[in-house]
Amino acid sequence: MVARRDEIDTPKKWQPLVADAISSPAELFAALDLPKAQLPGAEQAATLFALKFPRRLLDRIEHNQPDDPVLRQFLPQAEESQSHPGYQVDPLAEAQAQVAPGLLHKYSGRVLLITTAACAVHCRYCFRRHFPYAEQRGEQDDWLAALAYIENHPDIHEVILSGGDPLSLSDNRLGRLISRLESIPHLRTLRLHSRTAALFPERLTDELTELLTDSRLRTVLVLHVNHPDELDGSSRQALETLSAAGVQLLNQSVLLAGVNDSSDTLIRLSQTLFDARTLPYYLHLPDPVTGTAHFQVDRQRGEQIIREMRSQLPGYLVPRLVVETAHEPGKTVIA
Ligand SMILES: *Cc1c(COP(=O)(O)O)cnc(C)c1O
Ligand code: SF4
Repeated sequence: MVARRDEIDTPKKWQPLVADAISSPAELFAALDLPKAQLPGAEQAATLFALKFPRRLLDRIEHNQPDDPVLRQFLPQAEESQSHPGYQVDPLAEAQAQVAPGLLHKYSGRVLLITTAACAVHCRYCFRRHFPYAEQRGEQDDWLAALAYIENHPDIHEVILSGGDPLSLSDNRLGRLISRLESIPHLRTLRLHSRTAALFPERLTDELTELLTDSRLRTVLVLHVNHPDELDGSSRQALETLSAAGVQLLNQSVLLAGVNDSSDTLIRLSQTLFDARTLPYYLHLPDPVTGTAHFQVDRQRGEQIIREMRSQLPGYLVPRLVVETAHEPGKTVIA
């Protein structure tokens, strides 16, 4: 028996850092000297999906540059309020793949558990920006129904903790969930999908490393980094430590217009990730989600970028270009 860790939950250094995100468009505009004419559009867009911008990125962004590729991912834009034909609130029909509160079973052998609605940052292109998180009772109920479903399905070997961001949970809460999953004999792999891991290296605490490596389950951490400037020396160090402890590190990116839609940027991203012991896994074409049309990159452009990457990088540094289509048995690999 492992000692119960949930008695004490002392605040960690990462929690105030995450809580300190900029949420007022006016404050962000002032801090980065952004064109005032764009402020009303930003304020309107922030009523649709709140602004959440990590303060630590401020000094990596040039002033008076609303098109900065890192900023663009988090900056609310007037375009978000426009509607476009073909763009939907739930293009992946995730609501229908839900088999228990917060549990999506779309693909064979693995399930995705929405552990929490909370994210440390709000990415404007997010396909979950319209997800009815308020109806996600899974977290409040300690995922009881989801765990029961997994227990009753011996063909499930991998559980993917997603969100939101599973690293928004405290180590204690995450530890309790992992212990419960460990006790399900047919599970072999625990995967976490996290945007927080690279942006807030303080989140990669020793306690978390222990949780992920003391486990009977093989653990995979899939980062979400879109641009090489999102990683700095301290994120690289924290990821190296996690990798040395035995966690498999992968990265997924979304191909986003004005952020990373060039092979130069993505080549630099692959090399920066490799320095941090992380291999590129997926490059997603953006989903047609309402309010995100300004990030769209078409399939041909995506294929061309992958060809250019392949001509300059070893195969293991080239991600797979994928799209997700509702009701398909897995992601569709394009290139
Ligand atoms: C992407 C995804 C997975 C994992 O797919 P892999 O190809 O194994 O990375 C599982 N479930 C859902 C609902 C997904 O969207
Ligand atoms: S961290 Fe992930 S889930 Fe959260 S807003 Fe960004 S893309 Fe969406």
